Amino acid sequence: MSTLVGVNLSSEVFYSCLQTALTTEREEIMGLLLGGKVRTSSNEHIITIHKYVSVQRSDKRGDRVEIPAEQLSKCVTLAERLTKETNIEHRVIGWIHSHPHITVFPSHVDLRTQNDYQMMDPDFIGIIFSVFNNDPSTNIGRIQVTCFQSRQNFSDPNDIYSQSGDHEHIQIPLGIVSSDFSYFNRNSADSILQLPKTILNEHKNAFSLFIERSKLNNSNQLHPMDTIFYSSVYQKKLSCLMEYLCLPLVQSLQDRLDYLDDLLEQKKKELASLQKKK
Ligand SMILES: [Zn+2]
Repeated sequence: MSTLVGVNLSSEVFYSCLQTALTTEREEIMGLLLGGKVRTSSNEHIITIHKYVSVQRSDKRGDRVEIPAEQLSKCVTLAERLTKETNIEHRVIGWIHSHPHITVFPSHVDLRTQNDYQMMDPDFIGIIFSVFNNDPSTNIGRIQVTCFQSRQNFSDPNDIYSQSGDHEHIQIPLGIVSSDFSYFNRNSADSILQLPKTILNEHKNAFSLFIERSKLNNSNQLHPMDTIFYSSVYQKKLSCLMEYLCLPLVQSLQDRLDYLDDLLEQKKKELASLQKKK
């Protein structure tokens, strides 16, 4: 059986993931990774990742990391489309989430979730971005990334069906490589721009849910105080979304555009000087 020896993340996917992880300091972001398997020798292979899709979390309590089935199914359809359009095998091959203000190491819940995914696909990998986690000795911002799989340690080695075993963390070497496919470079901004929509939908759903609950508790009538309270909370959430996510995102994309414009200018000059020498 071929062994997974590493994961290559395209630089554009790395940028998209980091960008989205840095946009929210309070909540974990989550997404799915699309890519395929590349054989490196007769018994070893690596996974290459070309696409990141941000996912709306159904449960926002800390460390709850379930991916809703309908979103998983949408990503499977997208993977099939990408396979057709690019002629490169794509499948949903991993998941990614952020750890704002905490270390990069996967929690017990992360390891258990990871193990569940590996039951469906042994190549499935997990990536974690730790952000806003300052180095205590220098108090300087630090960003850490890890790629992992997990393995269940059974308390009784003969009882492979027992669920009582702990999950062991297996670190997978992670490389960041330049993306070969201009198709993905052209489309990489999509996943970044998807994030505000995803979070907006989460707030909308929460608002509708609280309104429905309030009606149920009050003979199907909405109490005016509840209306005022939930509407105010919803408006505050939308203002925070604008202030802490949309505006920094626009600024960051503008900075990247400026950087790429400078780079393009520099490369044009280099090309002109090389053509002169010729
Ligand atoms: Zn986690």
